[in-house]
Amino acid sequence: MMSVQGSVLSRVVREQLVKGGYVQGKTCLRLLIILAVFCCTMPVSAARDDWARPFPGHRVIGNLYAVGGYDLAVFLITTDQGHILINTGLEDSVQMIRENIRSLGYRMQDVRILLSQQAHWDHTAGLAEIKKATGAQMWATQKDARILEDGGFSDPHFGGQVSFKPVGVDRTLTDGEVISLGDLRLTVHEHPGHTEGSSSYSMVVHENGKDYRVVIANMGTINQGKKLLQEPTYKGVAEDFASTYRKQKAMTVDVWVAAHGSQYGLHKKWQPGQPYDPSTFIDPEGFKMAVEALEKRYAKQIKAERISMESR
Ligand SMILES: [Zn+2]
Repeated sequence: MMSVQGSVLSRVVREQLVKGGYVQGKTCLRLLIILAVFCCTMPVSAARDDWARPFPGHRVIGNLYAVGGYDLAVFLITTDQGHILINTGLEDSVQMIRENIRSLGYRMQDVRILLSQQAHWDHTAGLAEIKKATGAQMWATQKDARILEDGGFSDPHFGGQVSFKPVGVDRTLTDGEVISLGDLRLTVHEHPGHTEGSSSYSMVVHENGKDYRVVIANMGTINQGKKLLQEPTYKGVAEDFASTYRKQKAMTVDVWVAAHGSQYGLHKKWQPGQPYDPSTFIDPEGFKMAVEALEKRYAKQIKAERISMESR
């Protein structure tokens, strides 16, 4: 649907590596996270292979599990009253998600609530099938609900055609709302911009006698070709992104994950076979840096659009 090519990514990576002198360890990881964050939902070749690639399910922390593929992240939050599943990946990812859930000792049919982070087909295409198979309810923010229900047709950026199987939304979520299931309390955060109804979710996980503030973040990445000021992709998109960066910078985060594994440095933080350790995904600095990097990129685009508008 769009044509951002791998060459652009590799050029950016090359430039950054040369500029940064290819530093080791955590700095390197952060650099990779920042680069990956820029490339979210780059809907074609660069990331496509990684989108369809399976990946083992694993425990992130406490009752939060990653059950998606190599890059398209899907999260399972378990409770004794059934589970919550966030995102799906592509349409043919459903079997892999089911197997990942099973490998962790849970069952897809025990999913009670389906959530999404952004109504883009690479994260929503399996929702209709999973809803049908499990009888789970689909809950979403009002603005993403519209897109989920029309299969992406009314998406202001990628719309005009149906890009995934429409899914009925049973309940509308609002900013600050707390979803309760069993003893789970999951807070909804509207973080719009990437889509009009993009959302993150947060909870506190008790593990080894400690409390960890965990966020499943939807990052404010700006898809290629999106316009912020000049004939904006949708009315208010610039303000939406700005509010998202502001809100995310104000969050206190111990552990974070995001809609793409590459965005939160999944493959640097965890490799298949690695035993569970609650500290694996602790990365407050990485979250802050990732948000700031996106905000910088946003400011650059705003500036460029202003200059172009003034010169007209
Ligand atoms: Zn997206």
